[in-house]
Amino acid sequence: MTAMTREQCLALDQEDPLRRLRDQFALPQGVIYLDGNSLGARPRSAAARAAEVVSEEWGTGLIRSWNTAGWFELPQRLGNMLAPLIGAGEDEVVVTDTTSSNLFKVLAAALRVQQTRDPKRKVIVSEASNFPTDLYIAQGLADLLQQGYSLRLVNAPEEIDAAVDADTAVLMLTHVNYKTGEMLDMASVTEMAHARGALTVWDLAHSAGAVPVALKASGADYAVGCTYKYLNGGPGSPAFLWVAPSLRDAFWQPLSGWWGHAAPFAMEPGYRPREGVARFLCGTQPIASLAMVECGLDIYAQTDMAVLRAKSLMLTDLFIALVETRCAAHPLELVTPRAHARRGSHVSFAHPDGFAVVQALIERGVIGDYREPRIARFGFTPLYTSFTEVWDAVEILRDVLDSGTYKAERHQTRGLVT
Ligand SMILES: *Cc1c(COP(=O)(O)O)cnc(C)c1O
Repeated sequence: MTAMTREQCLALDQEDPLRRLRDQFALPQGVIYLDGNSLGARPRSAAARAAEVVSEEWGTGLIRSWNTAGWFELPQRLGNMLAPLIGAGEDEVVVTDTTSSNLFKVLAAALRVQQTRDPKRKVIVSEASNFPTDLYIAQGLADLLQQGYSLRLVNAPEEIDAAVDADTAVLMLTHVNYKTGEMLDMASVTEMAHARGALTVWDLAHSAGAVPVALKASGADYAVGCTYKYLNGGPGSPAFLWVAPSLRDAFWQPLSGWWGHAAPFAMEPGYRPREGVARFLCGTQPIASLAMVECGLDIYAQTDMAVLRAKSLMLTDLFIALVETRCAAHPLELVTPRAHARRGSHVSFAHPDGFAVVQALIERGVIGDYREPRIARFGFTPLYTSFTEVWDAVEILRDVLDSGTYKAERHQTRGLVT
């Protein structure tokens, strides 16, 4: 049973154990932010941290800061802060580069491992509804390698099982689908892949900081993900990468830049990989942006994923129930699974005029986003979204639909980013 009045939502906010963490975010007045799954809100501390990095560490410390401000070890230090959120161990994660480029690195490493184990395995299996960059990166890598490598796409999670066979090298999946919000069972999918000799690569873009993830307990092989979504690292903040310790030293990766070298300042002409996950680094890191990631992770260190998950499910249950009762007169169709075990932390509804509805909501201060085709997507970030905001957002949605304001010409125009 979920709250069905605004007063009940206010009461839930009063009892919310995460309530005080909201104050650590700088959220603008008059906005209900339901897009933290695309770009997380700004931790208040990020402004002072940015000023410190620019004025003191860069301005005064200059090149000395690579040593004195801990710049050189920052990818590993942040990786250790992030590890508990995804069920990884100490010194197993680095924060670096983009999710797209990290995917290239781990996919290449996985294919190389398979080449030594069973060279006839040349197929990467994934879902057609995976986030496009994942598919583009896999296609690009297969094209680069040639020698019969290819990508095999299935059209629904139910088809994954049948697609993994004796020619499969890697099963590359996104744990929580960016569009539908559907979550896969990492442990059982990984077990199935391993039983057939395939390795798994998991994209945690919509999982890290959103749902509990147990990489090691699930037996997963490789993982990548973003820090600028639920983890609140800032626009374009560097991504993360994890490799199972048993596979880490089996190979390095083809973007073998000097930051992954065993002795970067020995300036040797030949590449020797560094020990551990640091061999997945490539070149000089974007320190100013990397430093912001810590501000988001600092907030996660004050709670745990079980508490966040409990609130996330309450928020998404509430949103689904309110939309389905209060907007029942309108052609909204729930795309996200109802079963808790199969739901991430965002909810998607299909509507024939989905794009215009989202634009009209944004004009009214309710920020969600639109994904092709027809999908209005709403992210619920338990660190800062309140139950009352869910209530108010649905009331505004109801008003936008009842009044038909979304049909106005100005809501049909698409920007460069939707
Ligand atoms: C957001 C997202 C990405 C983004 O990749 P970038 O390299 O950071 O642009 C990749 N994969 C998935 C599944 C995503 O949701």
